[in-house]
Amino acid sequence: MKIDVITLFPDIFRGFTEEALIKQAKKRKVLELNLINLRDYASDRHRTCDDAPYGGGAGMVLKCEPLFKAIKAASTRDSKVILLSPQGKTFNQKMAGELAKKKHLVFICGRYEGVDERVRETLVDEEISIGDFVTAGGELPAMLMIEATVRLVKGAIGKKESYERDSFYEGLLDWPHFTRPAVYKKMKVPAVLLGGDHALIQEWRQQQSEKITKSKRPDLWALHRKINKKRSGK
Ligand code: SAM
Repeated sequence: MKIDVITLFPDIFRGFTEEALIKQAKKRKVLELNLINLRDYASDRHRTCDDAPYGGGAGMVLKCEPLFKAIKAASTRDSKVILLSPQGKTFNQKMAGELAKKKHLVFICGRYEGVDERVRETLVDEEISIGDFVTAGGELPAMLMIEATVRLVKGAIGKKESYERDSFYEGLLDWPHFTRPAVYKKMKVPAVLLGGDHALIQEWRQQQSEKITKSKRPDLWALHRKINKKRSGK
């Protein structure tokens, strides 16, 4: 997968791209990640990328010209161009799975009041939000989406099971996890996990997943039940 990120602040991504999952995915040649400095597409000598909004008001707006040039230079017919925006569809695991199947993603990180509307109208395939709150720029939202997406790309992480058993993948939340020692400050690991009976362990985990989803996310639980009912034709 190839990902291009258009941003005014490429340095924000430094640690993110050089550590852990993203570093591994690049090393394994599963991911090519390019940071595109929007200023490289500005035409004046001050490399201006923002200007005051028409109609007045506080804050600046990212200008059309550098964004049009940067997006045109980065994208091809196979690209999906995503604008990070609080007005977009809220990102979730299903969307991460869909993005993970794409060959090329281009992320546009807004700043200040956002981007000139003509960019959204003509060059953007999808507007995506990370939730009902406002960050100062699209960089953190882009990193969040990239990490959630890349870990679902084939070959990015060692074992496919590590994400297939994650919360949301099958519509349920994850079960509780424990590691050594078996007793810590008098708190014991559930005996079933120490017994070595894999069928029993699986049964316990499924029950825990269901119990946790039911109590923490009744909305997900109701959806899960509805889908299962439909599947079994009841
Ligand atoms: N004036 C905009 C509004 O009220 O909708 C907010 C602009 S925000 C300060 C600057 C940029 O941060 C946005 O253009 C967008 O790229 C990014 N951003 C902020 N909150 C976001 C969110 N919840 N999801 C995705 N991107 C977000």
